[in-house]
Amino acid sequence: MIRVWTLDSFDDKQLAKFNRTLYTAFGVGSEHSGSAEIPAGMPEPLDAEKLLTDVKGIRSYKDDKILLLTTRKLKERELPSGMAPTSGFAWHGKDRAILSIHPHKDLESGYKAVARHALHQLGHLWELHHCLDPRCSMYPPWTPSFTQGEPIFCTFCREKSEQKIRLAKS
Ligand SMILES: [Zn+2]
Ligand SMILES: [Zn+2]
Repeated sequence: MIRVWTLDSFDDKQLAKFNRTLYTAFGVGSEHSGSAEIPAGMPEPLDAEKLLTDVKGIRSYKDDKILLLTTRKLKERELPSGMAPTSGFAWHGKDRAILSIHPHKDLESGYKAVARHALHQLGHLWELHHCLDPRCSMYPPWTPSFTQGEPIFCTFCREKSEQKIRLAKS
């Protein structure tokens, strides 16, 4: 099951729509599980890696994937090609990821781009790697065309995620 934990306030209806999109993409239930806390004094833009470790108030169950959702900006990351704006970060193959909706003010105003980024980070939790198909949500997210795409996977990534989800259940 996918459990969304919010770090700031989000509209319930928009969260419900977001969870339906995640359910459609992965075929597993997705719900808003509660709100968690950013550790006091953590400067903005937030350090995504540190936040995943230090966040307070998360309950987790075996086989759950946790997606933290924030409206705040994340610190840019250094790539071989230079600094890249960061909208999310995931513990590859493990259980925890974070997603920022920045620069959108709410889920609805940036819906497709935010949902596509969410699929991407959750995909990494199910061990998906970057994909060469520009339509796929596992396409490298720092590419200029990424945010224009739909929140979908290519057939290969969809099948791979389904396989990982089945393995986790059995
Ligand atoms: Zn990635
Ligand atoms: Zn793909």
